[in-house]
Amino acid sequence: MKNINKVKSLIKTECAGFLSEQCSINNYCCNNDGVCLFFAENTEMPRCKYFENGVLPLEDGLERDYLEERNLSVLLNRKAKPKVKCEKCGTPFDANSNRQKLCEKCRKIVKREQARERQRKLRDKIA
Ligand SMILES: [Zn+2]
Repeated sequence: MKNINKVKSLIKTECAGFLSEQCSINNYCCNNDGVCLFFAENTEMPRCKYFENGVLPLEDGLERDYLEERNLSVLLNRKAKPKVKCEKCGTPFDANSNRQKLCEKCRKIVKREQARERQRKLRDKIA
């Protein structure tokens, strides 16, 4: 497994289930009630839901390597929605694409303004 040392140090510092020692078991995992999978000697590509969901996302690059190594890159795409700050009001929101610059609320406001503008122009033309 690539980056095993990075994974280990991330677990040591961030994983809430990890204890360096418990009941004379080193690198104990509360979720596993035994040795943490990533510290066990004989596992090639351990998987831990708790780690993947709660700890791994803290390290972007490491997460990518970890998921690619396990052919799980789909999971990366699933969470690929970029967090964007709205250009108008500054509220962070989940963008559906990188082109999206405004939050839901502001998009509605802008749309309404554009519609009003169109109507105004239309009226001017007629008058
Ligand atoms: Zn906004």
